[in-house]
Amino acid sequence: MAVIPDARHEIELRQGAYVGGRLVDVGGADRVAVVSPRDGRTIGYLHAADRAFVDHAVAVARRAFDTSGWAGAPMRERGDVLVKWAGLVAESARDLASTVSLEMGKPVSQALNVELAAVEKCLRWYGELAGKRSDALLAHEDSVLAYSVEEPAGVVAAVVPWNFPLTMTVWKLAPALLAGNAVVLKPAEQTPFSALLLAELGSRAGLPDGILNVVNGLGREAGQALGRHPDVDVVTFTGSPATGRAFMNYSAESNGKRVWPELGGKSATVVLRDADVRAAATSAAENAFFNQGQMCSASSRLIVLDEHADEAVAVACEVAAALQPADPLDPATGFGAIVGLDALAGIEEKVADALEQGATLAAGSSRRAVVPGLEGGAYFAPVVLDHVRPETRIAQDEVFGPVLSVIRVASEDEAISVANGTRYGLAAGVWGRDVAAIHRVTRALRAGVVWVNCYEEGDMRLPFGGIKESGFGRDKGADALHKYTDTKSVWMRLDG
Ligand code: NAD
Repeated sequence: MAVIPDARHEIELRQGAYVGGRLVDVGGADRVAVVSPRDGRTIGYLHAADRAFVDHAVAVARRAFDTSGWAGAPMRERGDVLVKWAGLVAESARDLASTVSLEMGKPVSQALNVELAAVEKCLRWYGELAGKRSDALLAHEDSVLAYSVEEPAGVVAAVVPWNFPLTMTVWKLAPALLAGNAVVLKPAEQTPFSALLLAELGSRAGLPDGILNVVNGLGREAGQALGRHPDVDVVTFTGSPATGRAFMNYSAESNGKRVWPELGGKSATVVLRDADVRAAATSAAENAFFNQGQMCSASSRLIVLDEHADEAVAVACEVAAALQPADPLDPATGFGAIVGLDALAGIEEKVADALEQGATLAAGSSRRAVVPGLEGGAYFAPVVLDHVRPETRIAQDEVFGPVLSVIRVASEDEAISVANGTRYGLAAGVWGRDVAAIHRVTRALRAGVVWVNCYEEGDMRLPFGGIKESGFGRDKGADALHKYTDTKSVWMRLDG
């Protein structure tokens, strides 16, 4: 374990892997430095698991699934463990939040109040769901009893990104574990430490040894090994579209395992003629910049009628000006670091390209920002681009940085067509007052989630996921349990 001496709150970083109910060394693994985007300093090492280690973790998970009694236990008992785990997460929320903030640069207050709050809520929600479910009887006659039951699928591999490292993780783990599966989790390379602490808390809450395992490693090696593993039954994945498709290939080329992909987005906020333009533009900008814009559902395109555009741009610029990068570990910070210098260079390049393509810079700069005292960090101030043409790269590709593209349109029909005119279909926002118009536009938008006169709202009941190249997996909600179960149908003749 490494202690981070300069963190405002001293944290012990767990390193290695978590297999069989304990933290273990990954013998002979390459050690890859994990650099904090806060200041460019190495905070620990990723012990990169190779294929042999992944095989070992899957075997441990399979053995635990077969022998620990977890799969056959009443769901209520598994739910109790999740509820207890939620309590332990709440007790350790500060350590977890500081670890996430150091790993990927989000403000520690948001790590605590948004991310860890969501983690606790998710574990508790699924835990409490356990006692409220029943399986329906199909037929109930004198000579026949027929029913179907949901049985755990077996070993689930969960592969997750770094932007909400713990929230994305529990969106997978809670329903998979509640359904009775064993899980092998592979966190992103950038965020290997927080998941180890989360797993340790899961063991303390009562998860049997081997039911939750964490393998840290590189995507192309450890991630691929899980995707191709013949003894993995389900892959649940959140990340980029390219990796999502790679997992479908791994499945096709191995054992045809189920793959649940939740991928990127290029979400639009559509402002209708009678909308409160100030509220709409404020929401679009805040939700383009939240988490430094590193959100799959970031409201990265603001689509406005010409008559509203100047006001909308001015409001978005006000929001941008109020959010300047600062030390993520400072509890007063509202806007932190970009995950790393490579990602930062990609954002700079995309903004420069947009300017070459005719967009104008209304707020921010195409160059990195510097936070005094943290010169080695990866910082980039929010950008508002005006006069963006819908067919240009900045309006089509995911930036994964704090960049809002304003697209001016002449009519509401054009707004819908522009909103739908990307290969993604994750989320959208609609702002207006006329209920009939809102309903018509909501139906016309090709997205998995549509927010009306708000953005990023919802609770654990509401499924989250996309369509088109945003994937087809859905997290949250009671139906997520079915991603990790198989239906067994039983037709029982009773008369001989
Ligand atoms: P990524 O696809 O690069 O990595 C995600 C995970 O996949 C990591 O654990 C990584 O190690 C692994 N991986 C990478 N390459 C792999 C390969 N060839 N084979 C197997 N595994 C591999 O994505 P990222 O950069 O970590 O995250 C950003 C992306 O995630 C964005 O596209 C974002 O929109 C998306 N995302 C989607 C949602 C959603 O709910 N739809 C939520 C958050 C992030």
